[in-house]
Amino acid sequence: MQRVDPVAFRQAASRFVTGVAVLTALDRRGEVCGMTANSFVSISLAPPTVLVSVKPGRMHDAISAAARYGVNVLPEDGKHLSRHFAGRPAADAVAACEIVQGLPRLPGCVAFFACELIRSVDVNDHTLFIAEVSTCDYSDTLPLVFFSSRYHLGPGMPVDR
Ligand SMILES: Cc1cc2nc3c(=O)[nH]c(=O)nc-3n(C[C@H](O)[C@H](O)[C@H](O)COP(=O)(O)OP(=O)(O)OC[C@H]3O[C@@H](n4cnc5c(N)ncnc54)[C@H](O)[C@@H]3O)c2cc1C
Repeated sequence: MQRVDPVAFRQAASRFVTGVAVLTALDRRGEVCGMTANSFVSISLAPPTVLVSVKPGRMHDAISAAARYGVNVLPEDGKHLSRHFAGRPAADAVAACEIVQGLPRLPGCVAFFACELIRSVDVNDHTLFIAEVSTCDYSDTLPLVFFSSRYHLGPGMPVDR
């Protein structure tokens, strides 16, 4: 099989618009761990099942150990949180996480999913963490949007249903 140019792949993939989430989990020592991710996908409705794709690192270790994770969907004004949890730490960027039913939760998010791991699949340099959703909730505030490697405000004007 012919291999695609890695730069072209990243740029083409970046044209797929996503929201931005912070994955949260408690690590082996019970400490809160967070990581920015836009690989969140809803993959089945009955039972409600999702996946995230995570590269090796602290969050990967925490999800593997805890066998559960939270998905905190960031609001429009959450760019600082996205940057912080993507490895650009800012001392004043993080509001304290609340621990709800054993999972860390960021305040003010557009949606939250509590996810119970059912399968881990290693695929090349990432692991797919497939999980059933045990609880979720949402608000009607607007989300942060990621497109072409940049942050955007809200989802834009609807054109049709
Ligand atoms: C929009 C976007 C989408 C991304 N999507 C993905 C994806 O889907 N999959 C993927 O693998 N990577 C993704 N990344 C990259 C990923 O967010 C970074 O590589 C991240 O640094 C990896 O986290 P880590 O747990 O491995 O390591 P770390 O670098 O240790 O953790 C990430 C950051 O979170 C901070 N942090 C962690 N826990 C806490 C805490 N309790 N209190 C305060 N700060 C804390 C750390 O200071 C660090 O800056 C994405 C990045 C961006 C910007």
